Amino acid sequence: MDYAIAGRWAVVCAASQGLGLGCAKALAAEGVNLVINARTVATLEAAAAELRSVGGGRIEVRTVAGDIALPEVRQALLQACPQVDILVNNAGGPPPGDFRDWGRAEWVKALEQNMLTPIELIKATVDAMAARGFGRVVNITSAAVKAPIDTLGLSNGARTGLTGFVAGLARQPRLAQHNVTINNLLPGAFATARLHKNLEAAAQASGQPLEAIAEQRRGGIPAGRFGQADEFGAACAFLCSAAAGYITGQNLLIDGGAFPGTF
Ligand code: NAP
Repeated sequence: MDYAIAGRWAVVCAASQGLGLGCAKALAAEGVNLVINARTVATLEAAAAELRSVGGGRIEVRTVAGDIALPEVRQALLQACPQVDILVNNAGGPPPGDFRDWGRAEWVKALEQNMLTPIELIKATVDAMAARGFGRVVNITSAAVKAPIDTLGLSNGARTGLTGFVAGLARQPRLAQHNVTINNLLPGAFATARLHKNLEAAAQASGQPLEAIAEQRRGGIPAGRFGQADEFGAACAFLCSAAAGYITGQNLLIDGGAFPGTF
């Protein structure tokens, strides 16, 4: 199937490893030029080199290092991109904990990172996408939007806020009638640094070995394994394809069957 997006430009946030990099790789394989971001220069540049090799010499890859929650970093990211045809919103997840320990500062940080930052980037790009007649926005959120995890309250709250906002925006005729789609990808458990850190924290809290905790977690997934970032990227590339123009305002759970509901 021809995704028909070769030559387009994508901004992929928080993309030096994990799910963001998985999305960037899948887009690079489709011939999409990239502007990628993360805070650490060395790993960001290493990711860019990998993406250039995936693109096989037919794509350009630019980098903008910095915290995506900062307005000046978002500005630099947008300036580095000749035109944003595809926007993949992503950032680190907020830390786990008990809501009794979180004050206003922790909430504001989570909201800035996982709700307001994607909204700012969407605001800066979608009207120009509509004017050109093509645009794809994919927000990386979490399975916790559908099945909240009590210790991830900051994530549950901030991401659900983004999800509600997107549900309304994606249906605006001035976007939907001009081939601009906005969808959310909800990862379940994927084998990334973030998951490893969460498993380590659970192992420490329970006093059990890391592998025992990982095995328990895998046991709750019908697929019997953690997902791979490349599998996540494949779904992202499809949603960004020309063929996916009639899919908008949706939440796609990618979790190996872990969520037990019919819908
Ligand atoms: P990861 O492997 O830890 O990768 C995170 C990436 O984001 C890195 O490239 C990191 O690079 C970058 N990053 C983090 N904070 C950033 C910031 N403020 N500004 C710019 N770049 C930033 O994480 P992941 O597993 O891919 O997770 C991606 C997102 O999906 C997170 O929000 C996570 O909570 C969510 N999620 C993941 C899973 C899972 O199982 N993996 C499940 C549900 C939800 P630097 O550190 O150099 O900035």
